[in-house]
Amino acid sequence: MAAGPVLVVGAGQAGISLVIALRELGDTSPVVLVGDEPETPYERPPLSKGYLRGEHDRASLHFRDPAWFAEQGIDLVTGDAVATIERDASGGHAVTASGRRLDFSRLALTTGATNRRLPVDGADLDGVHSVRTLADADRLAPELRGAERLVVVGGGFIGLEVAAGARALGASVAVVEATERLLGRAATTVLSDFVREAHERRGTRILLDATVTRLTGRHRVTGVELADGSTLPADVVVVGIGALPRTDLADQLGLDVGPLGIVVDEHARTSDGLSVAAGDCAVGPNPYGRGAPGPTRLESVPHATDQARAAAATLAGHPAAYATVPWFWSDQADLRLQMAGLPHGADHVVVRGDVAAERFSVLSYRHGLLLAVESVGSSGDYLAVKRALEKGMTIAAAAAADLAVPLKRLITPAQDTPPS
Ligand SMILES: Cc1cc2nc3c(=O)[nH]c(=O)nc-3n(C[C@H](O)[C@H](O)[C@H](O)COP(=O)(O)OP(=O)(O)OC[C@H]3O[C@@H](n4cnc5c(N)ncnc54)[C@H](O)[C@@H]3O)c2cc1C
Repeated sequence: MAAGPVLVVGAGQAGISLVIALRELGDTSPVVLVGDEPETPYERPPLSKGYLRGEHDRASLHFRDPAWFAEQGIDLVTGDAVATIERDASGGHAVTASGRRLDFSRLALTTGATNRRLPVDGADLDGVHSVRTLADADRLAPELRGAERLVVVGGGFIGLEVAAGARALGASVAVVEATERLLGRAATTVLSDFVREAHERRGTRILLDATVTRLTGRHRVTGVELADGSTLPADVVVVGIGALPRTDLADQLGLDVGPLGIVVDEHARTSDGLSVAAGDCAVGPNPYGRGAPGPTRLESVPHATDQARAAAATLAGHPAAYATVPWFWSDQADLRLQMAGLPHGADHVVVRGDVAAERFSVLSYRHGLLLAVESVGSSGDYLAVKRALEKGMTIAAAAAADLAVPLKRLITPAQDTPPS
């Protein structure tokens, strides 16, 4: 790909990772990094965790201070959205909402995702929140500290993290999940069941198969009405029902965009073969050689970082295929969940450790091949399996539950796995 000015749209995890990688690769071209939020790039994970409980100051969330961008020759534009964009084979230009024109010869879209809205009456009432940005967390944190009754709509990671934090702050908390289990998109049923019980043990009410029909209240929310006719009283409601990729600029450029996001290849290249996209806005081939094949969109820091590195390598003219073992963590008050690999398509699971004691790992297999690990309070086992997966190895399912044998002693080459 030709050298020349680079425009990176979206100054979040993938955007900052991409510009860092570009400089590490020795690319010294002018770079403009544009973000519509007023902040310099910052990390989102603490927003649903310690930041809500006042355990992080704002400054600690930012990846780099403004001087770093200047030193690196990166023109950081904040608080201004790219509104229109066009390009041809040699480059193009974008225009921001404030009317600034940005010319580029190379383009990266790292526009992230936007929270799904709850499609019911009352979703706009005061006291109804969602968490994606620092501004969202700044609005929610003081309300949570004073909340008596919180209802969280959505039993995914972000909702459960907020629920656990509010419970620790003393609120009465209920989580309403529309499907039959928590973390349904990402976890095995063993982990889903454990998480439900762990939250219930800590005093949170979990309602499964429960659909919200309306949020009640005149100006401020007072309750969450469910399809069975009951109403859960609430003075604060947090909606965490998933996110939609931000693809409007890709649509303007005529790029392939599917329901999961901007379609990219293993080099993070979009369908025009010239632009790149990475992070929550993009969907690409499964970067992990195991588990369900097909288009994969992962919403995680490690994925955004690694795919952005692949995008930078493509822009710098040294494409390197993006291949990785996905990993993820979630802190739910005093519980730390750690996951590596993807358990989708598993036909067998092995539980190692003591679920009731909140110290265990779940190893998922397909046709005898290790796919993924989910650990709670068992970092040693988590790391052993993650390393095995990264080296293309496996662990025999028949032996994995035996706590007397350290997992790292059971690691063997994957090709030794008998075919099913
Ligand atoms: C509350 C919360 C907690 C999380 N916790 C974890 C966790 O514990 N572990 C983990 O691995 N992952 C976690 N994640 C997920 C992780 O933060 C995301 O996957 C990651 O931030 C994705 O990076 P990204 O750059 O693709 O998107 P983002 O970080 O969202 O950045 C995209 C940026 O682009 C901007 N933008 C969009 N369109 C335009 C435009 N037209 N012009 C200018 N700017 C634009 C957006 O406003 C945004 O600032 C969490 C996410 C949230 C919201």
